[in-house]
Amino acid sequence: MFDYHVHSLFSADSKMKLAEACEAAIEAGVKEIAFTEHIDYFYPNCDLIFDFDYQEYAKAIDQVQEQYLNKLKILKAVEIGIHPFKHKENSMFAKANDFDFIIGSVHLADDLDLHNGDYFKGKSLDEALETYFLTINQYVKEFADFNVLGHLTLIKRYLHYVKAYWADVQWKNYYDIIENTFKILIESERGIEVNMSGFRYRIDCALPDLPFLKLYKDVGGEIITVGTDAHSKHFVGKHLEFGYQLLEQAGFKYVTTFRQRKPTFVSLSGILK
Ligand SMILES: [Zn+2]
Ligand SMILES: [Zn+2]
Repeated sequence: MFDYHVHSLFSADSKMKLAEACEAAIEAGVKEIAFTEHIDYFYPNCDLIFDFDYQEYAKAIDQVQEQYLNKLKILKAVEIGIHPFKHKENSMFAKANDFDFIIGSVHLADDLDLHNGDYFKGKSLDEALETYFLTINQYVKEFADFNVLGHLTLIKRYLHYVKAYWADVQWKNYYDIIENTFKILIESERGIEVNMSGFRYRIDCALPDLPFLKLYKDVGGEIITVGTDAHSKHFVGKHLEFGYQLLEQAGFKYVTTFRQRKPTFVSLSGILK
């Protein structure tokens, strides 16, 4: 298995040591781990500063690569927070540094935080969802320096702010926008991830889950990774198998891994024995 979304203490919101994550990964049967640390050049109303010291990070990754040689493949990676005023800085950061893999994520819409609920103030459920999916669609057109789009449907984790539950939502209302987003990604040789953090947030679903994965497959999507988005050792490697099962149910034969930002396709049948 491959955990392609993990945050160590190089991310402002995690205290996990690299070695701690590596041990947990090996224990969980993970063969490859990507440390996708946060860089968010714009994050309003938040005490944390999501910057990224690449030199320190690279040195530390080189050390654990040596320490866990033959036991675990460890990738240099980043989760870039996409923001319309920061495309240039994000682009420079992606190009100036040596990464195996880059996730592009949308954590804010209307310049407001989904996580703390600011985004939902004064919006109906439909307004919140439509604006969220249109925002992602716009950002994916404007900014292309990443390999996979992070956690599409992240908004499911925060629907309690509009007193809704994800299972009651008519997601089909947004399929046109989402389908267009998928096509833009596919045409530019980018993909999506299946993010398992919904289980940590007790909404018990993958982000995105099966209907969206089927839609992505139907429009020709191939590049797809699975990651836990773990911020502590307890979640490294957790629920990955369920993610691969979803891929299989959606009709995928392969999951994608990366080296130097180039995709390789690994057969699911070898993973799901
Ligand atoms: Zn994220
Ligand atoms: Zn993350």
